[in-house]
Amino acid sequence: MLSASSMKKPTLRNISRREFLAASSAALVGLGMKSERKIAGGFVNESAQLGHMLRDHKSFPAPTKKEKYPIVIIGGGMAGLSAAWHLDRRGFKDFVLLELDTQAGGNSRWGENEVSRYPWAAHYLPVPDKNETLVRELMEELGGLKDGKWEERYLCFTPQERLFIHGRWQEGIEPAVGLDARDREQFQRLDDILQNFRVTGAFTIPLERGVEHASTQPAITALDHISVTDWLRQQKLDSPYLRWYMDYACRDDYGAPATATSAWAGVHYFASRAHEEKGPLTWPEGNGWIARQLIAKLDRYIRRNSMAHHIARDKTRWRVLAGATEYAADAIIFAAPTFIAPYVFEGLAPSMTPDFQYSPWFTANLTLDRWPREHGGREPEPTSTWDNVDYNSKSLGYVVANHQSIRQHEDRSVWTYYWAMAEDTPRASRRKLLESDWNYFKELILQDLERVHPDIRDCVSRIDVMRMGHAMVRPTVGLMFDTQRRKLAEGKPLLGFDLVYFANSDLSGISIFENAQWNGVQAASNALRAISR
Ligand SMILES: Cc1cc2nc3c(=O)[nH]c(=O)nc-3n(C[C@H](O)[C@H](O)[C@H](O)COP(=O)(O)OP(=O)(O)OC[C@H]3O[C@@H](n4cnc5c(N)ncnc54)[C@H](O)[C@@H]3O)c2cc1C
Repeated sequence: MLSASSMKKPTLRNISRREFLAASSAALVGLGMKSERKIAGGFVNESAQLGHMLRDHKSFPAPTKKEKYPIVIIGGGMAGLSAAWHLDRRGFKDFVLLELDTQAGGNSRWGENEVSRYPWAAHYLPVPDKNETLVRELMEELGGLKDGKWEERYLCFTPQERLFIHGRWQEGIEPAVGLDARDREQFQRLDDILQNFRVTGAFTIPLERGVEHASTQPAITALDHISVTDWLRQQKLDSPYLRWYMDYACRDDYGAPATATSAWAGVHYFASRAHEEKGPLTWPEGNGWIARQLIAKLDRYIRRNSMAHHIARDKTRWRVLAGATEYAADAIIFAAPTFIAPYVFEGLAPSMTPDFQYSPWFTANLTLDRWPREHGGREPEPTSTWDNVDYNSKSLGYVVANHQSIRQHEDRSVWTYYWAMAEDTPRASRRKLLESDWNYFKELILQDLERVHPDIRDCVSRIDVMRMGHAMVRPTVGLMFDTQRRKLAEGKPLLGFDLVYFANSDLSGISIFENAQWNGVQAASNALRAISR
């Protein structure tokens, strides 16, 4: 296998005629000629219209056929797919999975063009430690873990992360440039505090075990009563670099600003994993690699374009209306986002489910015909960095999809660009997402990247944008120890909704693959147990 350092981007020595012409036109732009390179693209994977039909209680065509199953899974993201994986490997084959979209995978969907596969959202999995048995079992089954060793191709190549700060790139995302002694002392103090939390065993993945363990420790549960910002203030940690870093972590993992994130979740981000873990595991299509393989294994159960729009009790069974079919089910695994449940279940009031709030995001995939120059007109770096973040940007930067490619001399690339809309209220951001046209996003992205790569416009041939109004749950203040959330996550059925098991990652308050998988598998084993009684 080639090492990461052997992956080369074009240099002046091996530059082709096409690249030379492109580079010359970039130089002309610098001299004052405005480049008008045509950039193609549009919105992809739009589902807001369908979702709003549910919200607005629109009527749907009457079903034309009927099918009967002991278990129906609703939602084909990682939670729903994991529930299906569990049923299937337990030898239980009599179920279907209904997915609203044309493609299953949810936030782990992926795309592909002539350059590379690429993720639409989730793009990595931290290397699971020994306690994360379910994740390890799956990775063994999928060929990522063999005889206790991780497949090297799937461990992120170096260089992994860089931060553009004070006009230059530094390695790693934690700010290291421009700090004075006081800033450095505060980072060290934060590190010590987090290490103390790490050893308590309260911050686990999957999350529920740690919450159970922590629920009797007031010093830890108290973290859930304040925001990350207030907690930092309490700890007298006011370095602007440290504040930026913690806010970045909240936006990156939860799509929320530090002011709106529970300090418990802020600590969990750092204290739930070993300090010096290797990895992460990543693939060109991100976690789409996991989704793709699960879908291939489970394809016979999946019904695409099948939005569940009405679910009601019919004597002893549940009746699920989706597309042209009416499904009768003994048990339901509801793996779609929980906030949708009151819109589809007859008689389920919103107050019966936890008060989840969701972060709006947009992501984009940019196809680049050549590598852009760096700030100050410098040549592209000889090797790509996987994750690239700008300290002065409201975005979360970009991830290079073909970073893991073992081919040399990659001229073209796909960059996955991330923006959690954390600056405004979720409601206002959702409105902005819906009201803005593709040109708005294109300009926002290009102007953002131009600060770092001034000739980016001359390199990009296509920008596709995915808008997600309710992308992921926010770990808001008080949510982790909220009794309603914990009951649902523990698999306790809601009053009057026997044999309905919730499974989405939102139940955990922290949306990551491991929680989606855990919730899916728990719901599946609860459903199996109940129907075999
Ligand atoms: C931008 C972004 C980046 C992320 N990056 C990472 C990452 O790098 N690593 C990581 O671990 N996690 C990441 N995540 C978190 C990600 O949400 C989880 O990893 C996981 O994919 C969530 O799976 P889920 O099944 O719980 O939910 P979802 O992915 O939301 O799946 C829900 C599914 O239900 C379907 N559905 C909705 N309503 C209905 C209905 N009425 N009928 C039928 N189907 C319905 C949806 O179409 C969807 O497929 C990221 C999330 C976002 C938004």
